[in-house]
Amino acid sequence: MKTSSFHSSHARVDQAPKDGRPEFAFIGRSNVGKSSLINMLAQRKELAHTSGKPGKTQLLNYYLINDSWFLTDLPGYGYAKQSKKTRSKWEKRMENYFLKRQTLVSAFVLIDSNVPPQEIDLEFVNWLGEHGIPFVLAFTKTDRRKAKDGAHVAAFQERLKEYWEELPPAFLTSAVKEIGRDEVLTYVESALNT
Ligand code: GDP
Repeated sequence: MKTSSFHSSHARVDQAPKDGRPEFAFIGRSNVGKSSLINMLAQRKELAHTSGKPGKTQLLNYYLINDSWFLTDLPGYGYAKQSKKTRSKWEKRMENYFLKRQTLVSAFVLIDSNVPPQEIDLEFVNWLGEHGIPFVLAFTKTDRRKAKDGAHVAAFQERLKEYWEELPPAFLTSAVKEIGRDEVLTYVESALNT
């Protein structure tokens, strides 16, 4: 990643950039470490804002990378105080985004490697799979003690095998230890070139 800059924020997918640049979307449970991972990939302290208030950013945030592709920071899901109404609103907006955004190359679904498989993550991943939306997994915070033996990562993969024959590519990442940067960026480059 040579250059990165904030491009634009949008409430709705039909307002998103129409210049046809390919796009990779980052999404995950609130507090999963999405902003930290984006900043680590960009090697910037504050490209994405790590927010103290989960669920506050309900916008689609576009970052332009290397003048050639968009990294899209999507609103997180599953924060503690989320009401049913908020959740169904989020679901509608994300459905809209994923079903309509033709320039999307792949989604990065972030999964916290420190906790056992969460139903809300499995539901989301399965929804993407059922709709044929390309995605990969990025396990976050692998530097933390509870992640060290890889048990939660393995358990998540096992749960996915209940539904899918083929598992999506998965990356182990840590924003703190800068783990997984080369692997993620190499994947992006190769996806852009195919
Ligand atoms: P977001 O809500 O998904 O954007 O998550 P943030 O990036 O704001 O991170 C949520 C919390 O997890 C913060 O307290 C971060 O410091 C912490 N965090 C994020 N990434 C890592 C990581 O790789 N390792 C560790 N140990 N903590 C992390």
